[in-house]
Amino acid sequence: MGIKVIKREGSSFKDKLYIPAIIGGLKTTFKHFSKNLKDTSNIITMQYPEVQPTDVTDRYRGIHRLTKWDDGSEKCVACFMCATACPAECIFIEAEERDDDKAEKRPAKFMIDLLECVYCGYCVEACPCDAIRMDTGIFSFTADSRDKFLVDKDYLMNNERSKDFSDD
Ligand code: SF4
Ligand code: SF4
Repeated sequence: MGIKVIKREGSSFKDKLYIPAIIGGLKTTFKHFSKNLKDTSNIITMQYPEVQPTDVTDRYRGIHRLTKWDDGSEKCVACFMCATACPAECIFIEAEERDDDKAEKRPAKFMIDLLECVYCGYCVEACPCDAIRMDTGIFSFTADSRDKFLVDKDYLMNNERSKDFSDD
């Protein structure tokens, strides 16, 4: 039986020195460096956070918000579907009766732990009332203590949308 022996790459003395490979890599680095010095428009690295990205797409799942009726009241009917669907179990709701004609219940408390959230969007998909969305475009949220990441109903209802998305 004819056995074809294939020479193992990188086994020569020159390969084992690594110096030619290092020089080749540095050559590529300096080629890009000198090119970018002459023309900075090709540099794709952004000086974040001084420069903020402007190409956040409409479908980006940012920090949540609770949608509102025209009178400013919440659309949420405290059905717990979002909390049930949430794989991270980071939605906490306390329901109370509602005395207007919009629904039977509303959330007395609605909290999301953003440190536990995995931004999967299941809560948005599960909601039968389009009451929770992740279309704020907010991708960065910083705080100096863990409890500030536990955002409440007040925060979620007044969450500024960074982009002008339609409620329709
Ligand atoms: S995005 Fe996912 S993990 Fe975050 S609150 Fe919604 S369902 Fe839970
Ligand atoms: S946000 Fe939607 S799914 Fe969650 S409790 Fe309110 S109405 Fe139900």
